[in-house]
Amino acid sequence: MEKGNIRVQTENIFPIIKKFLYSEHDIFLRELVSNAVDATQKLKTLSSIGEAKGELGELRIDVKLNVEAQTLTISDKGVGMTAAEVDKYLNQVAFSGAEEFLQKYKGQAENNIIGHFGLGFYSSFMVSEKVEVITQSYQQDKPAVKWECDGSPAFTLTETDKAERGTDIVLHINEESKEFLEAGRVRQILEKFCRFLPVPIFFEEKQINNTAPAWTKKPSELTAEDYQNFYKELYPFNETPLFWIHLNVDYPFNLTGILYFPRIKQSYEIQKDKIQLYSNQVFVTEEVKDIVPEFLMLLQGVIDSPDIPLNVSRSYLQGDPNVKKINNHITKKVADKLEEIFNKDRKEFEEKWEHIGLFVKYGMMTDDKFFERANSFHLFEDVEGEKFYTLQEYRAATEVLQKNKDGKLVILYTTNPVQQDAYIQQAKAKGYTVVKMETLVDAAFISQVENKWENVHFTRVDADIADNLVDKQENNETVLNKDEVEALQKLFDLKIPEINMSVEVKGLSPQAPPVVATRPEFMRRMKDMAATGGPMAAFYATMPDEVTLTVNGNHTVFQQILSETDADKKGKFVHNLADLALLSQGLLKGNSLTDFINRSVELMGGDKKSTIILES
Ligand code: ADP
Ligand code: MG
Repeated sequence: MEKGNIRVQTENIFPIIKKFLYSEHDIFLRELVSNAVDATQKLKTLSSIGEAKGELGELRIDVKLNVEAQTLTISDKGVGMTAAEVDKYLNQVAFSGAEEFLQKYKGQAENNIIGHFGLGFYSSFMVSEKVEVITQSYQQDKPAVKWECDGSPAFTLTETDKAERGTDIVLHINEESKEFLEAGRVRQILEKFCRFLPVPIFFEEKQINNTAPAWTKKPSELTAEDYQNFYKELYPFNETPLFWIHLNVDYPFNLTGILYFPRIKQSYEIQKDKIQLYSNQVFVTEEVKDIVPEFLMLLQGVIDSPDIPLNVSRSYLQGDPNVKKINNHITKKVADKLEEIFNKDRKEFEEKWEHIGLFVKYGMMTDDKFFERANSFHLFEDVEGEKFYTLQEYRAATEVLQKNKDGKLVILYTTNPVQQDAYIQQAKAKGYTVVKMETLVDAAFISQVENKWENVHFTRVDADIADNLVDKQENNETVLNKDEVEALQKLFDLKIPEINMSVEVKGLSPQAPPVVATRPEFMRRMKDMAATGGPMAAFYATMPDEVTLTVNGNHTVFQQILSETDADKKGKFVHNLADLALLSQGLLKGNSLTDFINRSVELMGGDKKSTIILES
């Protein structure tokens, strides 16, 4: 028997290990199982070159609990270690690994360290009061040995009996770590970290891993069904994905994986199923920020790269050239895939636009390279949901009609086809093409691309008539004479609280509504922004609403109103028409709304005093 001290400068490293890794203790199991996998793979390699002789037998890893003895054992049938190797790999290599790790992170924010690679074998001391390693090398003439260490630098190494080749790591779980003696907890950890490891892992008679997950295979070996099945394996409760991208790079960095586009309609759908990051099939984290471009964080699936420096802190990761390259590569692959579908099967692309649109718009806003690529496949959907236009196609289809004073293309859009229906109908009657911009990202998207696309201006369909092109298209001749126009102008000079109103009498089509309320596009966007919060919210909220009432002199109702002899009635008719227009803009509130209701009841012959009080 040999006794000795682990050769390190630090007096006692274990208290430090425990202190540093106060949370996420569960990584010890990941470390020990991946060591067992490494040992098994090494054996296979040795066997393939004739170094390890004879039948290898069933190569599997077993994780076993012994609640009575308070131990957790990880057994493999891998290369094993000779006494000399134990001394070298555990007393020196593993230890120096742990020491180096701690040196590196001294004084750093502890949170950055937790859950990263680097501690290896010695992480077992986070949860154990004693660790035994019983191992038989594949070199059969070497005796089996047992190494024991209780968490002080002192260890013992003795010869022992072990029938089978391989290594048992026996952890005597310490008082604070009793949770790791619960089968449910152990299974949970194994399923988290070891689900796709390449060697069968058994716990309580059941294999917990899929040793050949789809991303490790060649794309040519996989059918659409295989990809879908793998998605189901990752996210059992999700709908089938829209499509997927198989990543497979080996130069200048190593990266494999499958990214799935899920069905997501709104950006606020909370994303619990994230992309998982693996390193040689060992699960590392779901924190793929920095590695995956932000706009693709809503994708799902797996990325596997041994080249991503996993044992370093977040801030270091950002500056890592490989990480930047991987990030660019993923962006490019996603753009390639979208372009491919767009070119190959436009119909399919349009059908999926509802889901893809979010990624594309978000990507165009946040990533200039992607913006350039996406210009060719970003789509506008018309208000009927029948036709889709790229920017180029929209321009070609509308250029003649939809140009503003500055010669810019005007993209007419609606944020709510039901609420803005009256305006949409008018626009359509004029031959304009209204597109839907209904999702949460659209407001931000509009203000971004307006700066990037040249000669493009977005106008909501209910915006100022001047903005809204009507001005330019109509001759605005009204059938009313000058006196009648003046009379109407006066009648409509109403005072409505919190609204800055201007009135214009114009000759719109007789089919258009009698009064149309519009708001300047700019002002409306500010108000919308105020509604969603943000630094300027309070300021914008105090600004009065600017509204233009366009009175349609060609509407027959005004002949009637102008010939009305009861001045009181006349005033009320006019007020009601104005209120109707404001109502359709959602601007009639509080007292004004109550007045409108009461006035309407009265005009229909109701009792003046039966006022309706609105609750507010
Ligand atoms: P790393 O795995 O990064 O080399 P570890 O601290 O996890 O660092 O392990 C140190 C060394 O101990 C390994 O490189 C290996 O040589 C040896 N070792 C650990 N576990 C086993 C095992 N189950 N079978 C054989 N050798 C092992
Ligand atoms: Mg290791």
